[in-house]
Amino acid sequence: MDNKMIKESMELIDAHFKNEGISRRDALKLFGVGGAAALMTAGATTEVRASSVSGKVVIVGGGLAGVATAARLKRSADNVEITVIEPNETSVSYQPGQTLVGGGVWENADTEYQTADFMPDGVTWVKDKAVEFDPQNNSVKTASGEIIGYDYLVVAAGVKLDYARLEGLGITETITSRGDDSAVRKVIGQNGITSIYFANGASDTWKEMQKFVADAKSGKRVTGIFTDPDTPIKCGGAPKKIMYLTDARLREAGDDARANAELVFYPNGGKMFGVPEYHDAIKAQFEARDMKWHYSHNLIKVDPVKKIATFDNFMQVQGAWDEDLEEYAMETKHNYVDVPFDFLHITPPMVAAEEIGSSPIGSPKGWVPVDKETLQHVKYKNVFALGDIAGIPMGKTGGSARKQYKVVVDNIITMMEGGDINANPKYGGYTVCPLITGLGSVMLAEFDWSGKPTPSFPLDPTQERWIWWLLKVYALKPMTQYGMLSGRA
Ligand SMILES: Cc1cc2nc3c(=O)[nH]c(=O)nc-3n(C[C@H](O)[C@H](O)[C@H](O)COP(=O)(O)OP(=O)(O)OC[C@H]3O[C@@H](n4cnc5c(N)ncnc54)[C@H](O)[C@@H]3O)c2cc1C
Repeated sequence: MDNKMIKESMELIDAHFKNEGISRRDALKLFGVGGAAALMTAGATTEVRASSVSGKVVIVGGGLAGVATAARLKRSADNVEITVIEPNETSVSYQPGQTLVGGGVWENADTEYQTADFMPDGVTWVKDKAVEFDPQNNSVKTASGEIIGYDYLVVAAGVKLDYARLEGLGITETITSRGDDSAVRKVIGQNGITSIYFANGASDTWKEMQKFVADAKSGKRVTGIFTDPDTPIKCGGAPKKIMYLTDARLREAGDDARANAELVFYPNGGKMFGVPEYHDAIKAQFEARDMKWHYSHNLIKVDPVKKIATFDNFMQVQGAWDEDLEEYAMETKHNYVDVPFDFLHITPPMVAAEEIGSSPIGSPKGWVPVDKETLQHVKYKNVFALGDIAGIPMGKTGGSARKQYKVVVDNIITMMEGGDINANPKYGGYTVCPLITGLGSVMLAEFDWSGKPTPSFPLDPTQERWIWWLLKVYALKPMTQYGMLSGRA
């Protein structure tokens, strides 16, 4: 990005903030660590409702969405008794930073913070796991056997990473992004097999990426492959972000290093992005960087010794003639493809925690089924779900959760007051993917239920910009910590 573009971007952003009633000084502070906190208190916060209602709310999961909900509820209705059930001391971690760790921009420690530091005052934290749900009797049971009753239940338990579904890795358990990863780390994070989806996996990715780049630089012909599974995933952009960063690190090592490396994306899906404008932009970016892709490839097996990844390459073909319908049936044909690799980045299949997915509040697919606009459970009206575990057809991102937690808090208070939640603002499907496309460039892909780009700034959202890189690297973490986790923004 040249100086003219930077100036142009800054001027436009400046104008946007001015429009919002935020001073130039505060707008510029957005791009400095700590400055975002000032911005949050300078005007970008949302109005918090004040209510004297009382009741008991239990929140399962003390990650991003759970703590933000607890904080806003506490600010809005001080008399409400809030309990958060969360087993991990370091659960409220900043997962978007894991991509930067994998690309060698941040250290692992930059993404880690203690749950206790962000648990709002006056909230009871039960350091345990919720293992049984009894929505008929409004109670939850923890692993240690404690039964906790509620008036309202909020489920914000995120997703689990299911590397165990991949044959050949010898993994039998699901893990969360932070916490005990010993079962997975025995095989992922070495021998060129990587994954940024868990915290230690991200730092190991950077170690393995450096070896890969060094091999390419030394003249060896190498292949890096990047997968994207057949389940919904958190941060749909991350499988590509880490590929862009690998490309950038190879280019940084020199033209020869890049020329010696083949980089190939193998997604299960049939396009680069659900929104056509972003799909087209990403395709063009891939072509410009000589990054290849093959759609409809689902990773099913890895041989970590021979370094071969096996994909199910599936396609719809014409089957037998159906006499009743008087048409040919369509059948799925599977072709199993072995791909040798030097560097493999795995985006694992993702599932809801088994204890929730198969409970009365779960669903056959595991996610907690809620109305996509009110986030109220389809069957139990005093149960809500948000964040990655919510069974709604839109982005599992922190950006989505940032909009959702305000809707959930508002709806719970309205129900406690005896009002109608349908009169409240709804979740409009907003989600955001700051798609890192290089060291110093990001395309800020924002969209909602409309399936169209919904940029927050008056800039072409399909362009890669340095200004969004600054936002991603410097501003989003303090914005998350001081805005969202405090329930203010
Ligand atoms: C590599 C990567 C890059 C990402 N990049 C971005 C990005 O650029 N922008 C963006 O907006 N988002 C991004 N995300 C996604 C974002 O981090 C998640 O969408 C967000 O953390 C979801 O919040 P959550 O509260 O639903 O889940 P989490 O923050 O994962 O928290 C869930 C919590 O529930 C707890 N839990 C699980 N089961 C139970 C149980 N039975 N009982 C009690 N507690 C339980 C877990 O311990 C965990 O602490 C990224 C994620 C990853 C992994």
